[in-house]
Amino acid sequence: MEKLLVINCGSSSLKYEVYAMPNKTSLGKGLVERIGSPTGIITQKSDKGVIELNEPLPDHDAAMVLVKKALTDPDKGILKAIDEISGVGHRTVHGGEDYSTSVIIDEDVIEAIKRNTDLAPLHNPANLTGIKAAMEMLPGVPQVAVFDTAFHQTLAPSSYLYGLPRELYTKHKIRRYGFHGTSHRYVSKEAVKLMKRDVENTNVISCHLGNGASITAIRQGKSVETSMGFTPLEGLVMGTRSGDLDPAILLFLLEKGYSAEDINKMINKEGGLLGLSGVSNDMRDIHLAADKGNQDAIEALEVFAHKIRQYIGAYSANMVKVDALIFTGGIGENDIRMREMICHRLENIGIVMDYDRNKANGSKPGIVSKDYSPVTIIVMPTNEELQIATDTYELINEKYKSWVLLKE
Ligand code: ADP
Repeated sequence: MEKLLVINCGSSSLKYEVYAMPNKTSLGKGLVERIGSPTGIITQKSDKGVIELNEPLPDHDAAMVLVKKALTDPDKGILKAIDEISGVGHRTVHGGEDYSTSVIIDEDVIEAIKRNTDLAPLHNPANLTGIKAAMEMLPGVPQVAVFDTAFHQTLAPSSYLYGLPRELYTKHKIRRYGFHGTSHRYVSKEAVKLMKRDVENTNVISCHLGNGASITAIRQGKSVETSMGFTPLEGLVMGTRSGDLDPAILLFLLEKGYSAEDINKMINKEGGLLGLSGVSNDMRDIHLAADKGNQDAIEALEVFAHKIRQYIGAYSANMVKVDALIFTGGIGENDIRMREMICHRLENIGIVMDYDRNKANGSKPGIVSKDYSPVTIIVMPTNEELQIATDTYELINEKYKSWVLLKE
């Protein structure tokens, strides 16, 4: 059994989970919050118990020292010693056009993550900090980068180019990249397994509906369309992000005296379900308000579902056939009513939900369409951490070991 550490490092927080491979069992996970402040917190949960520690956390190195302390706690720790970890997988946001798969991290990979910082100015530096801190904590242990963008590198130019002067692509790399790739890849593979089908002859549309939301069309295991674009702002109406807009609105607002900073806030933090409902970015709160007759909340739900239906229709039009429609993410997995709202009226393109099955299925992996539905509707809980652990395991066992053998 190999124990792998999965790290998802943000600018002020860090999530981690330990997996036992190859049996893919989670041994426990933790969250470090308020990195960069004198009042840092770590919470770790495993079957050994819960650990909660408060310590000043000036930087990510200090956070990693605390992670090591929690992981190896004599009472409630997940590990006896930190050297039980034989590989680390890092969620890494932007691989640009450099990576279409996960990779073992070396100097070139670190340079590429730095090079792509322009494209993900908040995330890539935080991811790099996590990588460096983990390398210091576990010298000599292979580290793997799993990019959010990598899965969508199979998009054709017809899907990734914007209708802009070409030099914006050649000079500034402005194109659709897409995000949530690790989730779409995971749920689509699991859905194909659930249907007992072969990837090679299966096409799916995967809806990842969480606070961030995106839809991806996957033909024979490869991403061919995805709704997030140059940034995660494009596409669906999300928790606080606007999704698709007429770009002229932004110019209009600039002319009206709003600053670029104001507009950025409106479209990223104050838009979406929150902006439309005026209630919350949390779908549960919006349902509650809508049930009490709040018209803005009712419209927010309708806009959310309408946009998703539009994308499903558009993506179906560009696929020869669609075998499955997948729901995942906090809303896709749990919100029975929203799944129903979305599928209502998709019957004309062969997506026929069984409303009783949808209700009975709840949040489990399962099929919620009618037996006669040409497209199988599937609920599939996502697990990006497990996909990262799986990639890490496969890379260090196949490629890393053969590389070591070659060097010897
Ligand atoms: P993130 O993108 O932050 O990872 P999640 O995938 O956790 O987000 O999804 C968060 C969303 O899922 C919120 O809008 C939340 O209201 C919604 N959600 C979670 N559980 C339920 C539920 N039981 N019913 C409806 N919505 C839910």
